[in-house]
Amino acid sequence: MFENLQDKLNKAIKTLKGQGRITEINVAATIKEVRRALTDADVNYKVAKDITDRIRDKALDRKVLISVEPGQLFVKIVQEELTELMGGEAQGINIKGDPAVMLIAGLQGSGKTTFSGKLAAYLKKQGRTVLLVAADIYRPAAIDQLKVLGEQVGVEVYSEPDNKNAVEIALNGIAQARKTGKKVVIVDTAGRLAIDEVMMQEIEDLKRAISPSETLFVVDSMTGQDAVNTAKTFNERLNFDGVVLTKLDGDARGGAALSIKTVVNKPIKFISTGEKMEALDVFYPDRMASRILGMGDVISLVERAQQAFDEDESKRISAKMRKNQFDFDDFLSQLQQIKKMGNVKDLLGMIPGMGKMIKDLDIDNDSFKPIEAIISSMTPIERSRPELIDGSRKKRIAAGSGTSIQQVNNLLKQFDEMRKMMKKMNTMQSSGKLNKMVR
Ligand code: GDP
Repeated sequence: MFENLQDKLNKAIKTLKGQGRITEINVAATIKEVRRALTDADVNYKVAKDITDRIRDKALDRKVLISVEPGQLFVKIVQEELTELMGGEAQGINIKGDPAVMLIAGLQGSGKTTFSGKLAAYLKKQGRTVLLVAADIYRPAAIDQLKVLGEQVGVEVYSEPDNKNAVEIALNGIAQARKTGKKVVIVDTAGRLAIDEVMMQEIEDLKRAISPSETLFVVDSMTGQDAVNTAKTFNERLNFDGVVLTKLDGDARGGAALSIKTVVNKPIKFISTGEKMEALDVFYPDRMASRILGMGDVISLVERAQQAFDEDESKRISAKMRKNQFDFDDFLSQLQQIKKMGNVKDLLGMIPGMGKMIKDLDIDNDSFKPIEAIISSMTPIERSRPELIDGSRKKRIAAGSGTSIQQVNNLLKQFDEMRKMMKKMNTMQSSGKLNKMVR
């Protein structure tokens, strides 16, 4: 997904990445390329212009550029703006009511029925009891299709094959759910091949009659700009709560994902990436932005870290960081936690841009050994107050750890820089500057 856009964006940004300085000239050239990459991916022209204007303004804001490597910062700005463009924070669905009612709308063939099955499976996995309702009164096959899916995911399907009144079917379905103690009802509706007034009126009436806590609009991302236009029309009539983008596993150019939020001002809540019932993902704008920019798999890295890190120990250390009391004992403890996460080279590979750089380097968990040896040769007081380590102490530590004075010096220097950085972050955080910078 998004391979083309990814390719083009990376080509656009590559030249700037290596630059030591950002000037108006090289920014202008890059911005133009970024804009072209976006419009080629089917992003609405106005949306592409707005976002690239904002990226340019941020990139040229010298205050932001002072201490960071500008090329990398540019990528970060693009990532933030793409995230914002796609909706910022991930938005969950509203499951309120007894039962909570979800209305699924969209054109025929967009993937409504498939998504209804997936959503049922997703909610069931969360421990909820679900009833699927087949309210497609035009396509008898749709009822059978939903039944097959319901069976697959182990969710009951309510249908009335001879009834041609969608409102009645939906209301009866809700009553049935209430009677049988189901907590969520998913109503799959009829679609047409193109927007038409009768269909719009029907779905509008249906929404009014069943007051869903969540109305989701399903759209095929392969239809490009049409997807955005359809979303607009449906939203004007239905005022839906969120969008489901389907068929992102195809060679979709991605423009829909990038323009829909801006055009209809409704969040994308799920993405569907295949016909299988498991191929459903909650939509996280930031993860998608990183994916588009080929920025490595930081999320997995963090998730792995969460599994390996001892929570109490992490809390203790971060409290010490905040108080500027981080010492060599804490450093050693962190090193050990990192080692628990697995092979260091693998881990480094998950850091954006790192994979290629370290490919030929000889790094393994043993690379930490000299550092651990040096710290082990320090006395407790030296570990908590490294500024006490003078020439003769350095000599003793080097001898004790089987390293050289230069290695000891290097570690002390790096540690000192790390502490300075933490202190700076703390001051920035307390004065609110960091938030402003990250936003
Ligand atoms: P509906 O008419 O809106 O209910 O659409 P369907 O759920 O029947 O889907 C139409 C076709 O698209 C079916 O063949 C589905 O298997 C297929 N489909 C649905 N979602 C996806 C998806 O995310 N990826 C792919 N590749 N196919 C999908």
